[in-house]
Amino acid sequence: MDILVVLELDHPANVRLLGPDRRPADPPDPVRQAHAAAADAAGACGSVTLCGRDTADMTVAPHRSTGPDQPWWPPHWHPCSICRAAPRPGATAAPAAPAAG
Ligand SMILES: [Zn+2]
Repeated sequence: MDILVVLELDHPANVRLLGPDRRPADPPDPVRQAHAAAADAAGACGSVTLCGRDTADMTVAPHRSTGPDQPWWPPHWHPCSICRAAPRPGATAAPAAPAAG
């Protein structure tokens, strides 16, 4: 099973700001947190994130993890701490890394 990155936005997705030339513009940095959601069998985003939040109000990001040992979130977004700590669905049971002191 795949992990999809969904973005919790600071502003509703239908809000547009007026730019300096009075043309509509997207908010400059609307992403509050990146969450992970399991993809269903068809590859579509599941209805809840790994931390249990509804994905209906979130935007699916095109970012995909580059490998099973790579983080699922894009480096320029702050990942949700609960999603970050949650085990990946379908991941093979790897031995837990010892907590670094
Ligand atoms: Zn989350």
